[in-house]
Amino acid sequence: MSLTKFDYYAPERVEDACRLLMEKGEGAMVMAGGTDLLIKIQRGLLKTQTLIDLQKIESIHDITFDKDKGLSIGAMARLNDVANHPVIKEKFPAVSEAALATANVQIRNMGTVVGNLCNAAPSADNAPVLMAMGAVVNLVRSNGERQIPLEAFFQGPGLTVIQKGEIVTSVFVPTPPAGSGASYQHISARGKVDISAVCVGVMLTMKGKTCQTARIVLGAVAPVPMRALRAEKVIEGNPISKEVLEKAGIEASKECKPISDLRAAAEYRKILVGVLTARAVNEAAKRASKKPN
Ligand SMILES: Cc1cc2nc3c(=O)[nH]c(=O)nc-3n(C[C@H](O)[C@H](O)[C@H](O)COP(=O)(O)OP(=O)(O)OC[C@H]3O[C@@H](n4cnc5c(N)ncnc54)[C@H](O)[C@@H]3O)c2cc1C
Repeated sequence: MSLTKFDYYAPERVEDACRLLMEKGEGAMVMAGGTDLLIKIQRGLLKTQTLIDLQKIESIHDITFDKDKGLSIGAMARLNDVANHPVIKEKFPAVSEAALATANVQIRNMGTVVGNLCNAAPSADNAPVLMAMGAVVNLVRSNGERQIPLEAFFQGPGLTVIQKGEIVTSVFVPTPPAGSGASYQHISARGKVDISAVCVGVMLTMKGKTCQTARIVLGAVAPVPMRALRAEKVIEGNPISKEVLEKAGIEASKECKPISDLRAAAEYRKILVGVLTARAVNEAAKRASKKPN
């Protein structure tokens, strides 16, 4: 199946991309790696008159780290750039692992972390851990910019708060405090090549053996990545014992609202949520113990 005809632009500045988006109107779309977008256009799920390719905009390719502030992942940073970045591997290992869990090497060489978020699939591999770590999305339009917590970014399958004429330029992850640890866990039906049937991102802040704060985010079990707030409450104020892990898993599994589809039955997804939540909390606690406060 071939692509339909559309006009193609590759601006070199964010301002020009935003201006083109406004000028060209409803049928104009932004493309990063194109690994979601081009397939949707090819299958007739999206109709575009104008494609605005972001790859020539140098300023949004960078990955930068400031130890007092945090990590900035530019909109055109590829999944493999994030997975293999030495600073991300050392200081944000769960972010690197989520990028590495996405698709296969060919797709990771083209696709971006920001594209994965903007595509807003409920199963997006990079969303849970970034949300658990308090990530913030930077959006730019012709006459201004705004920052939106990733937690408030998703509005439904394929839907985000991105408005007409806006482009995401980066996602920012604050430097985790001392005594914290994060983990990403996922399971898919066909190992590495398939979309996650369930994915879980966790960040804990520990004081000694006691958990001070917990953020647990579940993917592929609701229309958008969701916080497991009741499971978080089970953990906060407690040491991470076998019993607490089990209780948190049960609570998370009760909170989620999965559907049955070709990747997994709803009942199976609920079981997986319990197992993966316990696994992620356990790993996050272990990582936190290596960075004591
Ligand atoms: C074979 C295959 C396997 C896959 N496996 C996985 C998987 O295991 N896990 C997973 O999560 N995903 C998977 N995907 C989906 C896809 O590869 C990822 O979602 C990828 O990260 C998308 O990034 P991209 O840069 O290609 O986005 P694009 O396809 O370029 O864009 C995706 C959407 O986001 C919008 N967009 C992109 N960048 C911006 C921006 N800066 N500002 C505003 N809007 C923007 C586009 O307009 C489009 O609507 C797979 C895809 C394929 C084809």
